[in-house]
Amino acid sequence: MADTYKNFINGEWSATASGGTFENRNPADPTDVIGVFPESGEEEINEAVKAARSAFQGWSHTPPPHRGEIIRKVGDILAARKDELARLATREMGKIVAETGGDVQEGIDCAYLFAGEGRRLFGETIPCEFANKFGMSIRRPIGVAGLITPWNFPMAIPTWKGFPALVAGNTLVLKAAEDSPATAVKLMEIFEEAGMPPGVVNLVHGHGPTAGAPLVKHPDVGVVSFTGSSETGRLIARECGGMLKRLSLEMGGKNAQIVMDDADLDLALEGALWGAFGTTGQRCTATSRLIVHKKIAGQLTDMLVERAKKLRVGNGLDDSTEMGPLVNEKQLGRVAGYCKIGVEEGAELILGGERGSGKLAKGAFFMPTVFRGVTRNMRIFQEEIFGPVVSITEIGDFDEAIETLNDSAYGLSSSIYTRDVNRAFKAVEDIDAGITYINGPTIGAEVQFPFGGNKNTGNGHREVGTVGLDVFTEWKAVYVDYSGKLQRAQIDTFEG
Ligand code: ADP
Repeated sequence: MADTYKNFINGEWSATASGGTFENRNPADPTDVIGVFPESGEEEINEAVKAARSAFQGWSHTPPPHRGEIIRKVGDILAARKDELARLATREMGKIVAETGGDVQEGIDCAYLFAGEGRRLFGETIPCEFANKFGMSIRRPIGVAGLITPWNFPMAIPTWKGFPALVAGNTLVLKAAEDSPATAVKLMEIFEEAGMPPGVVNLVHGHGPTAGAPLVKHPDVGVVSFTGSSETGRLIARECGGMLKRLSLEMGGKNAQIVMDDADLDLALEGALWGAFGTTGQRCTATSRLIVHKKIAGQLTDMLVERAKKLRVGNGLDDSTEMGPLVNEKQLGRVAGYCKIGVEEGAELILGGERGSGKLAKGAFFMPTVFRGVTRNMRIFQEEIFGPVVSITEIGDFDEAIETLNDSAYGLSSSIYTRDVNRAFKAVEDIDAGITYINGPTIGAEVQFPFGGNKNTGNGHREVGTVGLDVFTEWKAVYVDYSGKLQRAQIDTFEG
């Protein structure tokens, strides 16, 4: 019998009024049903937003160090339960336990980072134009935050959004991805155990158009933070734009790793393998393009194929597995479709391009895939695939490498392998992306750094780091005039 899970609204676990449910199955083994979840809609969203709205008054007046203290406890509980949470996340979305452990660890790191922010939340003191006048800027919470999250980082992304929102004094409603709802339930249980007051955090399960959309549209939701596909992000942006609602979007990527002719090829190979096939290529920062100097392209390609074909593909719960399944059959169809497109466009498929066979046939397994001879006009060079597919494009010099990397609608992560420090710094300057790694793969962001991307990856915001607070706060300028007289700024009365 599959477990039955509920929504978490106003500190209580509840089913939907209609009783509708949906199932969540293990992508490595579709006979394994993780649980049955409430198929929620506008009614449940309205209830959750109402609860969050009423809790806002108390929570926003709770001293930030106390808010941080609860977040710290959440971090402690996540740490104590890390292994169990990682295994559940692997069952839900497939990536290997070492990676879901890393996913939970990001939640822990994020908890401690933002717990500390409860004792900072720095503003600025700024000199005024007059004597006997004091000026400062302070952060104020916005109100109810609507968080819409994907399945590829089922613990990290809800915490990336949730902890900064909470420490800043907002309350929240989370609509977690329909492919990883159980991990979100565990996070709510942990909030409850850590002593979060009722209504401050709420979770509503359901699908995007029926549960996500009403959350975005709700007039009492002051800010929406979304991570997911560009298609959905565009819809949400249109909605929020019409309402002049605050919105942070984190969407696709088409990340590239440059390998110059002076690079340490063994190191570049390790980076490419991890960047392209880690999380089965389902990270928004995954390496989907290798831009390789023609002098070493043949050698690196052979090395890559040799290693990629030996990657152990299988159930992520098995400790020996190096690459798990894709999240579901729909995604597998999409990845297979892109492989077909690549071949039709004239790219050379030199490894993979097909689903797993034999004992892998029943799960959503797709084999590590490498294309070479990929040119900039091809769709597999330009469009996000979100699977274990990497394309190799040859270039002749550094300038061409940067131009080729920047030839993308997206600008999330990027990487260059070179031993030349001048080129490395030039790359930092010229690559149009939110993240650049030197001699490291395109994946591996740390929570104390700003995360996000340029161009179609986002809408100008960054998550986590200290700047992550900007999404969830409004700045207020405060002037204190202790001169006892009217002092008129912005007019020409300066007598200095
Ligand atoms: P992915 O490819 O990661 O599944 P989606 O953009 O489809 O990307 O989903 C990311 C999140 O956005 C999920 O929680 C999903 O339910 C939600 N979502 C999908 N469509 C909508 C929508 N129209 N409005 C609000 N949320 C949506």
